[in-house]
Amino acid sequence: MRLLKYGSKICGETRKADFLRAFGRKVETTRIVSFGTCNFHCAYCKRDGQFTDGDGNIIRSVPVSMDELKEVLRPALERGERIRLSGGDPVMFPKESLEIAKWAYGEYGVKISIAHNGSSLRFVKSLVDYLEYAAIDLKGYNPKELAYRAGISESAGEYMLRSTLEVQDFLSESGVLVDIRTPVFGDTPLDGLLKMAEMITADGDNSKEFWTLRAYKRVRGCDWLEPNQNTLYEWAKIVSSEFMELPVGLRLKWSGQKEFAILKGGVKNGF
Ligand code: SF4
Repeated sequence: MRLLKYGSKICGETRKADFLRAFGRKVETTRIVSFGTCNFHCAYCKRDGQFTDGDGNIIRSVPVSMDELKEVLRPALERGERIRLSGGDPVMFPKESLEIAKWAYGEYGVKISIAHNGSSLRFVKSLVDYLEYAAIDLKGYNPKELAYRAGISESAGEYMLRSTLEVQDFLSESGVLVDIRTPVFGDTPLDGLLKMAEMITADGDNSKEFWTLRAYKRVRGCDWLEPNQNTLYEWAKIVSSEFMELPVGLRLKWSGQKEFAILKGGVKNGF
């Protein structure tokens, strides 16, 4: 399989699963397994998914054996960190993803987490018994917008929009907590956010769903506009007040301080 290094290390990156606060759970540290291939080509990808070689691999990805990966993950599991299979996208390595999930469950009795672009219900179904929670992308408020952000054709955008909503519903109906993630750009309209909130909540039961709005930060080779943080915060309040049951998360930087704000019913609360 191919993985991306973080700095000089395989799986050197950790991230906090802040959204768990909204479900009354302690924030966990996740250990990121970053796969080196993706079926999307988002121009804003922070993992260089838009820069691939002739075989479709992200240029800076490296070959790693399963044994090597397990050795790197053992100490993380022993420290109580949760494995998170992430982008590129784990969908490109379904057998390896399942093997890691079964191994972590079999040897350590713990379930894993995934970050997935929502392109394959089949992939998610294969892993569901081993998932504690999942981050699933919703990259656009209609097929055209999703296709534009993901660097795929418009016809694929239509399929992918349907797919990611099905994946989200399937996971939440299966009892897996879902952190739905949407990148927000300088030209993302408020109407687009409201439309996405409508799509997320259309199935009626949002007790396992959380929506994270991720402000785009400029990456090399992509000249898309960054959103205004104050505007985004105000819009998150509007969306949250119209969709009372859906907790909304927002990662912000105020005066140099990072904050993960969670809003529910239009107000920031103390989860
Ligand atoms: S889906 Fe994720 S990993 Fe793949 S290109 Fe897009 S942002 Fe990068």
